Amino acid sequence: MPYEKGQRLPAEHASKIGHIDLTKSEFVRKIVEDLGLNEESEDYSQRDMPIISVSNLGSTSLIPMIYGIDGSMQIIEEKGKWPFKRYAFIKTAMLRIDFRSLEKIDKNYPNPFELESLMKKSAIYHYTAFPLRNISYEGLNIYDAIRSIVFKSLKQTLEEEVLETLKWLLYEKWAATKKQLEFFECPHCHSPRATLEYDAEVGPCPICGREIFITDCLGFHQDMNQDIARDSIIGTYMIIHETLLMLTGVRLLWDRNKSVLKDSLFIKDGPLSIRAQYSKLVQPIRRFLSHARSCGIEVNILGQEKTGAFRDHFDMISPCIDAGYAFIPSSSYIIREIQGRSETGAPYGKDTNYGAKVFYKFNNYHKMVLNIPIGDYLSDPKENDLIGFERIMATLPSIISNRFEGAIYPIELANGIASLSSYPSAKVLELFASELRK
Ligand SMILES: [Zn+2]
Repeated sequence: MPYEKGQRLPAEHASKIGHIDLTKSEFVRKIVEDLGLNEESEDYSQRDMPIISVSNLGSTSLIPMIYGIDGSMQIIEEKGKWPFKRYAFIKTAMLRIDFRSLEKIDKNYPNPFELESLMKKSAIYHYTAFPLRNISYEGLNIYDAIRSIVFKSLKQTLEEEVLETLKWLLYEKWAATKKQLEFFECPHCHSPRATLEYDAEVGPCPICGREIFITDCLGFHQDMNQDIARDSIIGTYMIIHETLLMLTGVRLLWDRNKSVLKDSLFIKDGPLSIRAQYSKLVQPIRRFLSHARSCGIEVNILGQEKTGAFRDHFDMISPCIDAGYAFIPSSSYIIREIQGRSETGAPYGKDTNYGAKVFYKFNNYHKMVLNIPIGDYLSDPKENDLIGFERIMATLPSIISNRFEGAIYPIELANGIASLSSYPSAKVLELFASELRK
């Protein structure tokens, strides 16, 4: 493998004559022969791939109200003078679009004034900033500053509604019984038996008596020390905030107008999953979606993966799938074909995912990796297990954008308003940060 580009020297290029020796090698020729590269390839569709015809799902009504959710982040490091300061800005956004206003907009050449008026009426934004290294905030070290900012940021979004959504999930407030918070690691004494009283957002640790926040339950403090936080905290905060913003929409409609909830589709950029210690949100989300379904309410949620291993795999197999068809991979297919690991370990996504994967080939141009919730975990989900599957698939053709391959218009719009890099460039954010320090 060539060396990568360094600070002073260009990347090394592979020699163009290197392959001559390779073709002369008897040993390599024998391996290539034994690989059977010239034999007929087997039909991929026979390999544990139940293909679903999306057009045959039956006639169903479209979902008229659509919410797009996305976020962006920017990490900034001040170079040149020690100690190097490092901090980050994060923005998340949710956009509500009703079908009638979407139909009026030209999806190939949208009129910027029409878009602006659409967004003014229906977009919610949230900004926050985090210190990551060598910055003091309100006299606190990085460890306590980040804990405090996570709590305050959730509390100040939508007049405390986003923090309420976190409590609604962790205390399972949709259920009739009062659920005790699961034990978590105290950020001060590190006892694994920290907890709060029912419905509390702040309180004393039962072991050491020091103040803990409901947001400590998520475990951000496990990804940092007193003075330095890992950059991964920023991406995780963004995903958690996007998820909570989306579920705030779901919760408010659940409490106030269930018939509107039935007619809403929440579309989030990225997979429907939360990693590592933060995945303690996954079980409550699944339990709520199952509970809603048992009450006759399908909560329509869709995630789209634009990059990553699933996207790469779909690009590889999509020539074997006809247009208008979808394929829902099982846990064992994912482990075997995509992760390339042995099936003796844990089932794929059991603790971290609240959506099943769907490979959907709309046509040769639009191929999408979708995530749709199933409620309780299943290792081999079928289309009937996916919540709102028929209506989501029926609605998709009307919201596909022709500007980018496989793009869904509400995600494209949410991406536009959530993007930090599109207008306040890194330079502007740097200036903004230096203003704040004066
Ligand atoms: Zn404690």
